[in-house]
Amino acid sequence: MPIYEYHCNDCGKDFEYLVLGSDKPECEFCKSKKVKRLMSTCGFLSKGSGGETVSSSAGASSCSGCSATSCSGCGN
Ligand SMILES: [Zn+2]
Repeated sequence: MPIYEYHCNDCGKDFEYLVLGSDKPECEFCKSKKVKRLMSTCGFLSKGSGGETVSSSAGASSCSGCSATSCSGCGN
């Protein structure tokens, strides 16, 4: 089950959404349907402010730039 990152055009926040079948994503903050999918979760952090980091010793199966196990942005 892929989890994609979305950006809400209404409130401007980013959130992750677990896509189930033909499920339509909606903003978890304002329930807007006007969201766009971000192609990569790499390159920025949506959670925490530096205090919360993903362990870098997770192994070779995870992307070095994010917590995803596969990431088109990193070529992994
Ligand atoms: Zn929103």
